[in-house]
Amino acid sequence: MRRGAVAIPLPLCYTPPASAGPRFGGERDSVQMARRRQLYEGKAKVLFEGPEPGTLVQYFKDDATSGNGTKKGVITGKGVLNNRISEYLMTRLTEMGVPTHFIRRLNMREQLIREVEIIPLELVVRNVAAGSLSTRLGLKEGTRLPRSIIEYYYKNDQLQDPMVSEEHITCFGWASTQDLDDMVALALRINDFLSGLFLGVGIVLVDFKIEFGRLYENDEMRIVLADEISPDNCRLWDVNTGEKMDKDRFRRDLGKVEEGYQEVARRLGILPEAGARDMKGPEAMQ
Ligand code: UDP
Repeated sequence: MRRGAVAIPLPLCYTPPASAGPRFGGERDSVQMARRRQLYEGKAKVLFEGPEPGTLVQYFKDDATSGNGTKKGVITGKGVLNNRISEYLMTRLTEMGVPTHFIRRLNMREQLIREVEIIPLELVVRNVAAGSLSTRLGLKEGTRLPRSIIEYYYKNDQLQDPMVSEEHITCFGWASTQDLDDMVALALRINDFLSGLFLGVGIVLVDFKIEFGRLYENDEMRIVLADEISPDNCRLWDVNTGEKMDKDRFRRDLGKVEEGYQEVARRLGILPEAGARDMKGPEAMQ
């Protein structure tokens, strides 16, 4: 049901995924990719060696999976949009003091990131009942929670990313109490900031999943936001109609999947219609 990156052997050249078509500049990007050594391939992203030590290149695919990989598909243009959306959100978060692994976007499908030691946990922050919370506790989807809550899942594909408690996390050494305190504090700040940002463009941030990594610099370690923030790992509903603009459109066969991702990018003012020159600020909603 849940997902995580899978380590694979290291081929020296990279064959672009079938989904990396010419639309949104796929061909040009694949030429650049071929020069880099691939380190990992996950379900939605590929990691390559970066241009300098301590950096990696994160490539966004159009591939989509759900049900722990049981359902597979392609969402055309998703990689390009998620690259932009994640760039935009990570940049805004950096500006308000949240440390992230993001350095800069390189092209339509790739971004330069700092190499971090990924903490094997997924933190899910929830504002409104949906998905597995609704199923597990019998809560009607759309019920606003009395307060935001955080859940932890252990990143392990074979075990289907089970939900775990702080006791499991510290007992098995996945993170220390200090790491956990840092992650929770960051997750709550991220939630406050993103909830406001999305509401400003007429979107309710129902829930989202984030991952953190340890960044080692000058004998110091700090916890930074890693992975991506995009409609692949957020639930985003229109504030007026409740229409879903996220991966649930794919998971639940709701149709108009590409349109959902495009609408999020459009409202944030970053829909790449005629290349990067088209980028503008968010469009305020009344
Ligand atoms: N999520 C994710 N990866 C996963 C599972 C969940 O990014 O492997 C995100 C999902 O998009 C949603 C939030 O985490 O925004 C909460 O998901 P939930 O636990 O409700 O699971 P789901 O119903 O998606 O299986």
